[in-house]
Amino acid sequence: PFSPKTRGSGHSATTFDDVAGIDSSVQELHEIVSYLKDPRSFHAIGARPPRGILLHGPPGCGKTHLARAIAGETERSGSSQLGGSTIDCFAVCSGSEFVETYVGRGAARVRTLFRNVREEALRNFAARQKSSAKAAGRGSFCRSILGFPGPVRRHSGEWEGVDMPMAILFIDEIDALAKSRNSSSILSSVGGCDEREQTLNQLLTELDGFETGSTTSQVNVIVIAATNRPEVLDPAILRPGRFDRHVKVDFPDARGREAILKVHARRIRLDSRSVDFSSLPSLEGFSGADLKNVINDAALQAVRTSSPAVNQSHLVDAVRKLRRTRGRPYY
Ligand code: ATP
Repeated sequence: PFSPKTRGSGHSATTFDDVAGIDSSVQELHEIVSYLKDPRSFHAIGARPPRGILLHGPPGCGKTHLARAIAGETERSGSSQLGGSTIDCFAVCSGSEFVETYVGRGAARVRTLFRNVREEALRNFAARQKSSAKAAGRGSFCRSILGFPGPVRRHSGEWEGVDMPMAILFIDEIDALAKSRNSSSILSSVGGCDEREQTLNQLLTELDGFETGSTTSQVNVIVIAATNRPEVLDPAILRPGRFDRHVKVDFPDARGREAILKVHARRIRLDSRSVDFSSLPSLEGFSGADLKNVINDAALQAVRTSSPAVNQSHLVDAVRKLRRTRGRPYY
């Protein structure tokens, strides 16, 4: 049975402190984090909450890492205690999990995915509200969860103090699921087109607003998708109200590369007398994932040579090795 990796709130160790070298992408994502931390102030003003964010850029530059950091930031704020919100479910899946041969199977998977995410968010939300009510010494916390009506205005026009269930769904390789219907593909010539189209249509339905009136429709699902090939996506999924925020996550520049090395070097023992990241051989074209590899490789070498800490020569060797094994860097 199809079951995406989901988890409840309070478990993402990654925050924006762990993301470096892609400051402009992080900057663009601050708005979504402010919304997640305090959705009520957005709703109170009548602003349309963000629903879908598309992260695009070359492999290994931090798209998945950023999605985790968004969830982690929301949790770190401890905002539920401050009257804000927190993530009740963070689910991760890949677009390739929806590619099916039989017509209707992919669409059913998309439906199941969204249903599972909403149900899990509702369950965690209920548990969270119950425990915060207990902590506050209140008998009951708000309206019954099953009849949760979503945020409502008081007579005074003030926003009523109910939190709302929130979920983040991260879909990696969204292009596998949402390729343009016009794009030439071998599938179109063998009758796979109907299946692909139904799957895509189901995704569009889910993004648009779903089973109104049901309890789970009250869950606020923010979908973050990632792709290396934004140009092949069906324009329908990029329309306003769907994936209408596009954030480029690109290769870091020289300063960014150094900052990423420092982030990953935090978890290893460095020989601070010899290490100088700025004088390593050229790291031009290295992604965040490559730089993480450099640090890891250098640490392994330190262990192999029984050194008490990672020194500059371990790092230099690790850079050279990565260049040798990978050949030319990506561009
Ligand atoms: P793909 O397109 O192949 O899925 P991606 O863009 O999603 O790649 P990630 O999976 O986020 O890349 O990156 C792999 C790992 O590299 C991350 O888990 C993280 O540890 C590290 N990394 C990548 N970019 C950064 C960054 N900007 N800052 C810190 N670490 C990074």
